[in-house]
Amino acid sequence: MYSSAHSREFPACSGCSLCRLVCPMWRSHRDPRFSPEGLAKALQCGATAAELAAPLDACSFCGACDPVCPERIDLTGMIMELRRQLPQSATTVNVPVPPGPAPAGALLLPGAALRADPALLTRVKGLLGIAVAADDGADIAQALETGGAIDTPRQRAFLRGLDGRTLVVGDALLLRQLRRWLPAARLQGLGEALGNVGVIRRRLASADFYVIEARAYHADYERLVGHYDGLRADTGCAMNLDLQRIAIPAVDEAEARWMLQGRRPARIVVENPAEREILRRVADVPVLHLAELAEA
Ligand code: SF4
Ligand code: SF4
Repeated sequence: MYSSAHSREFPACSGCSLCRLVCPMWRSHRDPRFSPEGLAKALQCGATAAELAAPLDACSFCGACDPVCPERIDLTGMIMELRRQLPQSATTVNVPVPPGPAPAGALLLPGAALRADPALLTRVKGLLGIAVAADDGADIAQALETGGAIDTPRQRAFLRGLDGRTLVVGDALLLRQLRRWLPAARLQGLGEALGNVGVIRRRLASADFYVIEARAYHADYERLVGHYDGLRADTGCAMNLDLQRIAIPAVDEAEARWMLQGRRPARIVVENPAEREILRRVADVPVLHLAELAEA
């Protein structure tokens, strides 16, 4: 049975179904078990993580369920912890950690998706005027995603010297976790940081469709609603928002098509490099990362 710091919370589920309305896992499976409500209700009836393995694996950690829950249950945290309880092969894969301290000043932790595109990483670095951390915790981010174990010495080595710093974090699950581990750090997601760069803001146009990265947005929803409202007001662009400003993620081609249904944008602008690739497969207009917009 699920037991954690949040264990007092899933019993609070009233079965209102609001989380189901926004859940892409529910949309694709059309099975009540594949929803945060279904998971919470099953836990109330004593289900184990192993019994819930299929929906736990299917959850994309988009976080859309968290801000809509009137009982304020940390549903994403609950699912992450349950995934850690599943018997699986996921293990922490340590990246080589360079000796010596990270450079002073603001630091970019790019994450795997941005590191996979060195030209884009160079653009981001230039636009933000920021040093890139040699150790960006990619292995820890992977463990968070897969439910793998996070080795305590490795965690300590990664976090050493980061609290109190200004950090721009490309991997949104890691960003979510760093809010707990580094209470004194000034933390921003990649989309928010780039969205505050003047040249990027000026290039966004009313015919653009702007795709907010759902994980980063929902994990800091109350603060970021204001950021994106401001961006929309300044630029006139449409965004992947639905149902009281919940972001729809392009987790796969089906979700990306659903997101674009009925829209005729001139361009699609994304925060998450991984979503750029998915949207390019289904859209017939240019799909750019925010950092590419500066030179478009
Ligand atoms: S995190 Fe996203 S996919 Fe997972 S249960 Fe919540 S809304 Fe559904
Ligand atoms: S939104 Fe919260 S209270 Fe409502 S069904 Fe979902 S988990 Fe339960």
